[in-house]
Amino acid sequence: MSIIIDGKAYAAELRGQIKAGVEEIKGKHSITPGLAVILVGNDPASEVYVGNKGKMCREVGMEAFDFRMLADTTESQLIAKIKELGQDKKVNGILVQLPLPKHINESAVINAIDPLKDVDGLHAINAGKLATGQDGIVPCTPLGCLMLIKSVARDLSGKNALIIGRSNLVGKPMAQLLLRESCTVTISHSRTKNLPELCRNANIVVAATGKPEMIKGEWIRSGAIVIDVGINRIHLSDGSTKLVGDVAYAEALQNAKAITPVPGGVGPMTIACLLANTLKAACLQHNIENDLASGFLSISNVEQINN
Ligand code: NAD
Repeated sequence: MSIIIDGKAYAAELRGQIKAGVEEIKGKHSITPGLAVILVGNDPASEVYVGNKGKMCREVGMEAFDFRMLADTTESQLIAKIKELGQDKKVNGILVQLPLPKHINESAVINAIDPLKDVDGLHAINAGKLATGQDGIVPCTPLGCLMLIKSVARDLSGKNALIIGRSNLVGKPMAQLLLRESCTVTISHSRTKNLPELCRNANIVVAATGKPEMIKGEWIRSGAIVIDVGINRIHLSDGSTKLVGDVAYAEALQNAKAITPVPGGVGPMTIACLLANTLKAACLQHNIENDLASGFLSISNVEQINN
């Protein structure tokens, strides 16, 4: 029987730990971690994400600051806002909701964020720290994926890990994290020629392509761990819609040792890791040693949840 990795349950447990961490630094240091989220334009999906982030922040006792900017905001206006928030002591984390309107250069905007407040972990300094094995802020989605993988396999050393997708947001940092765990990492992408063969050789598959159900069950090696990052809305013949991942879930379930569902797998962990990064950022900015902020990879009771 495959294990269905319950990302919702892990995320709830992680938020509980974060809430305790927030209470601790409030009590001992009178600091309330604050997250500022900037949304440029009015993309409906982004509006929902931003709303959820604010709600989750408040639930763990953090402050949430929402900034809505018009779709025709210029790059320099956005950067000026980011710089202003960089100086604001109440703001420990700054997140710019992506994607940005086409006239704005994403890299320029991300690199304008103070690296200590870069809770998405996308600044070149944080990406560089991850690539060189230094402690920095790690992108939320791959961090959550690693926690889910570790919930079903403690020792990843020597495992063949296949990452499908090479984005800065998911694929590349995921590869770095698994390399840090001593996996033998392969990164595949849209030009890769032999994906089924690479899959069949992988003990761990992390799929982040945005292509609904493109990874077939028969490609999955028996006993593999499958982490499905994709969130795709598909239209059914009866006119309704449904969310699916990048992996053909029902088929893959037959071969995998453990697999994340969509929804309810990676998604909830991404927001929980954003909160974890905000707490970590607050601790880094105030030179506070906080086990909770540094030890998020150890989730207790994980086996119990799986059994
Ligand atoms: P992206 O579009 O930036 O990157 C997609 C990657 O997939 C590219 O590197 C591309 O080379 C690769 N790819 C495309 N077709 C492929 C193919 N046929 N074979 C192999 N590789 C192929 O996307 P992203 O930001 O990395 O996100 C990927 C997916 O994950 C999307 O569905 C996105 O919605 C989802 N996502 C989910 C979460 C979450 O919290 N669950 C977070 C971020 C992204």
